[in-house]
Amino acid sequence: MFQTVVAAINQWAPHVNLKFEFIELDDNDELYDGDIRILLSHFKDGAGSSVIGTDARDILPHLPTMILGTDYQSSFFTVAAMHEFGHALGVEHEHQHPDAPLDWNLSALYRDSEARDNEASGNYLSSSARWAPTQIRQTPYDPKSIMHYAFPASVMRDKIEVP
Ligand SMILES: [Zn+2]
Repeated sequence: MFQTVVAAINQWAPHVNLKFEFIELDDNDELYDGDIRILLSHFKDGAGSSVIGTDARDILPHLPTMILGTDYQSSFFTVAAMHEFGHALGVEHEHQHPDAPLDWNLSALYRDSEARDNEASGNYLSSSARWAPTQIRQTPYDPKSIMHYAFPASVMRDKIEVP
């Protein structure tokens, strides 16, 4: 599982001016000095979470800054690890890009999110908000970005699924 996480994160390496050093700890180890501290928990199977960029400095040193699932054999695991590490590098959601041409049916989006668990729904609901151009530094909108959520056709006004 550790090597799967390393491989996913290292896909970012050619695109950033950073050197990644990975340290695997046992449950009883108490080395908390990593800039990014990843906890693998089955509670995050099929999902993940991470603080954004240098916000990690505000997290107490004995707490994780990123949580990934333990379902490392699923195809989603690598996607989730790459997505969450993007957040760790300071990258926000692509579907919230100021130029994202997405037209959600908000009531359908809220209904759909209520069917998800509480933690996921909070994130999903916030996904309908867009960043103002003055809030972020941006590249052109990329609908294929690893940082873009997928949306079912049922929550889009044009009824076209966003993969
Ligand atoms: Zn995200």
